[in-house]
Order: sequence, then C-alpha cells, then structure tokens
Amino acid sequence: QHYLDAIKAKDGELNAYVTVTDSEALAQAAQADEQFKAGTAGPLTGIPIAHKDLFCTEGVKTACGSKMLDNFIAPYESTATGNLKAAGMVMLGKTNMDEFAMGSSTESSYYGATKNPWNLDCVPGGSSGGSAVVVAAGTAPASLGTDTGGSIRQPAAFCGITGLKPTYGRVSRWGMVAYGSSLDQAGPMTQTAEDAAMIMNALASFDTKDSTSMDEPVEDYTASLNQSLDGLKIGLPKEFFGEALDEGIRATIMEAVKQFEAMGATVKEISLPRTELSIPAYYIIAPAEASTNLSRYDGVRYGHRCEDPKDLNDLYMRSRSEGFGDEVKRRIMVGTYALSAGYYDAYYRKAQQLRRLIKNDFVAALNDVDVIMGPTTPSPAWKIGAKNQDPVSMYLEDIYTLSVNLAGLPGMSVPCGFVDGMPVGLQVIGNYFQEAKLLNIGHQFQ
Ligand code: GLN
Repeated sequence: QHYLDAIKAKDGELNAYVTVTDSEALAQAAQADEQFKAGTAGPLTGIPIAHKDLFCTEGVKTACGSKMLDNFIAPYESTATGNLKAAGMVMLGKTNMDEFAMGSSTESSYYGATKNPWNLDCVPGGSSGGSAVVVAAGTAPASLGTDTGGSIRQPAAFCGITGLKPTYGRVSRWGMVAYGSSLDQAGPMTQTAEDAAMIMNALASFDTKDSTSMDEPVEDYTASLNQSLDGLKIGLPKEFFGEALDEGIRATIMEAVKQFEAMGATVKEISLPRTELSIPAYYIIAPAEASTNLSRYDGVRYGHRCEDPKDLNDLYMRSRSEGFGDEVKRRIMVGTYALSAGYYDAYYRKAQQLRRLIKNDFVAALNDVDVIMGPTTPSPAWKIGAKNQDPVSMYLEDIYTLSVNLAGLPGMSVPCGFVDGMPVGLQVIGNYFQEAKLLNIGHQFQ
C-alpha cells in the first residue's frame, strides 16, 4: 500500500509506470502476510518489485513501449519474473521503456517520455528508464531491467541507483520480448548492491526453455558481500578516459578509484584498443538481430492490425508502418540492409569478426586484472529532446557499455557522485560468472 500510494502521488509527473497492478499486488501482499504468520516466508516474500514492460507477465499487458503491442496481454509468464514471483515478490506494475528497448533515453516510447526524478527536464537514460526511475523516486524498492547494450547500467547511472547486467546466459531470456538475442540479458535495478544480490539469488537460473541459458550452479550472491578487497587488482582502460569523457565525471571516477586503493586494491592502466569500434559493430549486429526478431509482428498472429486490409501485402505493410515508431523502423532498415545478400560479408560478417576481437581484448585484460573499472557513461543525463532527433549522437553515448554486451561479460553500475546535480555511475566489469565479485565491490563501496 505504501508503494501504491507513492505511485499515485508521484508517477503522474514521472511517467515511469505504464501499468499499475494494484489489486493483484494487494492480494499477493495479503498472501505474503499469511506466509509470515505461518513461518514459511523467505527473504523476498512480500517485497514489491516493478518489471520493465518487456517481460511477459501472465494476464497483464506487455507492450514493450510500442503501439504494435498496445493490445497484447501476455498469455504466459517469463522465467525471470516467474522466478521472482515464486520467491514471493509482489509485482507493482510494468515500467516505461524505449520502444522495443531501442534507445538510451526512454523518449521513444509510445506512452511518452519518462522524466528523471533528479531534474524533470532531463532524460532518465534508457532503454530501462522507467525501471531506473521507480527505484530512484521511491515508487518501488527494486525493479527488473534488460540490457542489450547498456540499458540497465546507463539509466542506473543517470538516476543514481545500482544496476547489474549479468553474464550472458545467467538469467533466462524466455518470455522476454526479443531485441538482439545474442546480447539481451535481464538484471536487477536496486538502491544497493546488497538488494541486487538478494534478487539475483532468485533471478538467476538454468532454463532449458532458453537455448543460451548456461547450466552453471547458481551461487548465493549475498555470501561474499563482505569479503576484503585487499589485493584486488583493478584495471582502468585508457580508452574509457579519452576525449569523449566529461571532465566532472572523470574526476568523480578517479575519486572512487582512490577509495578502492584505500581499501587495499591496486590500480593499473590497461588497454581495450577496440572500444571505439564497439559502436559500429554493435549498431550492425543489434539491428540485424532486431530486424529478424521483429519480423514476427505481421498483423496476423498478434499485435497491431491495420483497418480493412486490401490483401495480405497491404496488411503486412500498413500494420507495420502504423505499429512501429521511427527508431524501430530505422533499425529494421539498417539490419535488413546489413543482412542482405551482397552486403552480408561487408557489414554483418565484419561486425561479427570485430565482436570476437573485442571479446579477446577483454579476456586478455582480465587475465591480468580482477576487474575493470571506468565510467558507465561519457556524460551525465542530458535534456529531454536534446538528442532524439540525431540518432548517431545518441548512439555515441553508449561507448562504454556496448562492448561488455558484445563480449557477454557481467557489468554493474553503482552510484559514485554528482556532476552539476546529476548522478554519476561507476562501471565495474568482471570476468564471466563473477557477479558475486562485482556485487561485493559495489556493497563495500556504498
Ligand atoms: N542504447 C542501445 C540501443 O539503443 C542499448 C539499448 C539496450 O541495451 N536495450 O540499442
């Protein structure tokens, strides 16, 4: 009830929720009370959570920020949200996002822009902007986001909260609306690393329904939260501190690094030489995968259907031109072009080769250091409207997050200070399946 009241009071202005499931939440909360009385409650029983509107939630509208799915009621529950439900968490509702998770500002949603609670004129980041705002504004204690190229970490940084993108394959993608299937990964967005660890305990699973889910044992992510950082080897990639980086953010990050040194960590400069090339590689691979994934929206099986189609082609064309927004259309065109015969070798294959080299750079770096640290974003949250007419300027803002998805590594953003009143995120990148190490680092830093 506390959170439902907070939503009523604040969300009109923030526009972070697209659906509030109030009566279901109260019914579930009442069940949780019973479990407490019976002594069967677990650590997450009765804890409210909001989900990005990209997770299928049985019987609840799942629109993915798109007119295309405005009429779509999910007939089944995603594994990720189902795992949290099974652990007793109570869904408050679904959060706003860039259409089909394509964007870095939550402005491309069919349901309007979401506002940053630190400054209502600024974007909250994206694509999981709604999920970041609900935690930052106190209209949910935690949320789920997804990260294809930074969509958990970047809005977490812009809103001053903690966001973890797990290793690719750690959290099941089953029941998530697909964007770039080889990159998509769900993760927790919370106030603290400890909260994220508790959610990860329930969220992570091996799932035979997702062919890329990894059959690795799920550890207790809270178990190592107080391990000493003495002797931790931190690498600072020089390419993350180049000209693109805002001076205020640079100073804030270096201040944070000093704190880790005071805790006994050692710091050295490393190199991830292909960081800049992650932008062209990602903006070929992600749209290519998106163009195939989005071919399912044809106006026939589900989703938006145009009025009075003349024939099948007219049905496809008008349903898709009416249902998709500009950025989604742009990605479909780029992706289709990159995959077409004659261009495949020049673009898609090149991008995949680059992807492997980017991964190799990380593997080599992580042979030498325990974790990599740097800024999550080159600049703090920008003004609403400042970049959404110039897609390339928005793409460039993803420079520090994209390569982590291309490599499939876990990455976390933790709040580390402010520049001009807007929050700054410290990014910590670890080796495969080292989420517990990242969470411990976040916990001790906070
Ligand atoms: N900003 C990136 C994009 O637009 C990443 C989005 C995401 O991680 N879903 O594709």
